[in-house]
Amino acid sequence: MSDLKNIVIIGGNNAGHGLAKKLVQEAKIPADYRILLIDPAQFAYWPIASLRASVVPGWEKKVYKELKQEGIFAPGQKHVLVKAKVEQVMDGKVVLDQEFEGKKEVEYESLVFATGASQPFPMRPKQEWSIPEVEAQLVQTQQDIAAAERVVIIGGGPTGIEMAGEISAAHPGKKITLVHRQPRLLDDRFPIKLSNQLEALLKKAGVELVLGDEHIQEPDLVTGKQNGTRTVRTKKGKELPADYVFIAIGNRPNTQLLAAADPAALAKDGTINVNEYLQVESSLFPRHNVFAAGDCANSPGWRSYISVEADVATIARNIPAQLSGAPLKKHAPGPRAMVVPTGPAAGAGFAGMGPLGDTALPQFVVPMLKGKDLFVGKFMERFHT
Ligand SMILES: Cc1cc2nc3c(=O)[nH]c(=O)nc-3n(C[C@H](O)[C@H](O)[C@H](O)COP(=O)(O)OP(=O)(O)OC[C@H]3O[C@@H](n4cnc5c(N)ncnc54)[C@H](O)[C@@H]3O)c2cc1C
Repeated sequence: MSDLKNIVIIGGNNAGHGLAKKLVQEAKIPADYRILLIDPAQFAYWPIASLRASVVPGWEKKVYKELKQEGIFAPGQKHVLVKAKVEQVMDGKVVLDQEFEGKKEVEYESLVFATGASQPFPMRPKQEWSIPEVEAQLVQTQQDIAAAERVVIIGGGPTGIEMAGEISAAHPGKKITLVHRQPRLLDDRFPIKLSNQLEALLKKAGVELVLGDEHIQEPDLVTGKQNGTRTVRTKKGKELPADYVFIAIGNRPNTQLLAAADPAALAKDGTINVNEYLQVESSLFPRHNVFAAGDCANSPGWRSYISVEADVATIARNIPAQLSGAPLKKHAPGPRAMVVPTGPAAGAGFAGMGPLGDTALPQFVVPMLKGKDLFVGKFMERFHT
């Protein structure tokens, strides 16, 4: 039992872990406070490189880092990584699935939801997996994809496009078909030029595109090696043979904790409603001492690491400000930008240039910016205290 007051962060992956580090390194946390970073996962995971790790041998070792106290907080620090799952959230306390310092209830002065999103593997691993299990699953996926003759990818958002690019780069000549509901790759939130560039790159790599059509969901149609060759049917009557299917749709925010306590606090898409200071908008928290960051939050911008970094910067300022009675700062969203590699050596992207609008990036910079190392260096670097 500690006399310190708690800043509780639920979720220790990109948003939660990033916030804990920023609070420790840059923010002034009052002396009688500590951070409790709570996550049951054995490792942090880097979704950005997860597709290459499913295709290219060796990359399975680049997407995780063991989640351990000394990788986050320097020796002797009062802050604690708590390996537990939060099961309930109330005003002033959370309830864990196991005891911490002799009880399941943990009191907080500030709370942050950083619970992210759930997606099918390989974009997100199962929370209960060990490091050997995630490596084994990635290696199995590499082998299944290498052995497949016909791959069908469902969904032409950034994930589906990147996966088509990764497979065609690693296995030239493999038959790949991508089915996308929209008449263009991506959708109308993105510049048309980006969709057109990516379409040209995938076609050049031999990927067949079925646009403006949609697969018919059957109960056994899931990502992975199929039982022999199956047929993926589309609403417009196409029949696509596949011995490997990759489903690149279905990103759901992990907000069940708040949904159970106050469903009105969630936006239509299931993310947590936040105000201009990134405080959670809920009658459950009358002291406004609860924040949300990253993929679980309805902060401005796409659900991306760019938004994670912007959210973390705001909350790392506002928690110490609130604790010391200083005014909070309004959130400044991250830059509007998107870079979509189609394998290590190609891709397209754009950056918002304010009043000049969205500007296409020269395609040769895409491998240098992202495609070559998928920011793995940045991910690994963060686990040094
Ligand atoms: C293929 C792919 C490519 C991408 N490329 C880019 C890119 O180029 N640029 C970019 O900016 N973004 C990109 N992204 C998006 C980026 O990866 C995510 O936005 C970011 O990882 C979200 O981080 P997060 O911490 O919010 O969520 P998550 O990574 O989902 O972490 C949530 C954590 O919360 C924990 N948790 C959940 N519930 C509980 C609970 N009840 N108790 C305790 N812990 C809990 C989980 O165990 C998990 O560790 C990409 C994503 C994918 C899938």
